[in-house]
Amino acid sequence: MVIETRSPQETFELGKKIGETAKPGQVYTLNGDLGVGKTVFTQGVASGLGITEAVSSPTFTIVQVYEEGRLPFYHFDVYRIGDIEEMEEIGYDDYFFGEGICLIEWAELICDILPEKRISVTIEKDLAQGFDYRRITIEEIEER
Ligand code: ADP
Ligand code: MG
Repeated sequence: MVIETRSPQETFELGKKIGETAKPGQVYTLNGDLGVGKTVFTQGVASGLGITEAVSSPTFTIVQVYEEGRLPFYHFDVYRIGDIEEMEEIGYDDYFFGEGICLIEWAELICDILPEKRISVTIEKDLAQGFDYRRITIEEIEER
């Protein structure tokens, strides 16, 4: 599925719809360049889950946990990760295979440990379409 947005609000609303319908145990991977809108999308998902607390990229920790919504929300940003071992140290599999919703910014950096079943979200710019244009591709992945 490909969705085009033309403002941060539209990307937020798309995330919000996904947050409203997300099911326990789902893992969303988020890829796209710096400043493309991964965190804006994430804030929408959090809002859709009923989280009112401000959500920003976890800068000093790999994962930020929000318990306030309809389901637990685990927001990862692995941009600064040096080694997969850092994921093991935080016990990532409890999150990936738990009953909450995982959302992983820069998931491509940890592709070796991603669950076989996940929902991939890729956000891209196309400057020919304008500065605020984003093309958002959402696809279900099931490796075996
Ligand atoms: P990332 O987390 O991918 O590094 P952010 O979500 O932090 O990016 O920032 C995205 C920036 O792009 C914000 O400043 C936002 O206002 C801007 N922006 C402009 N148009 C859009 C759009 N259509 N969707 C999302 N963000 C947009
Ligand atoms: Mg971000």
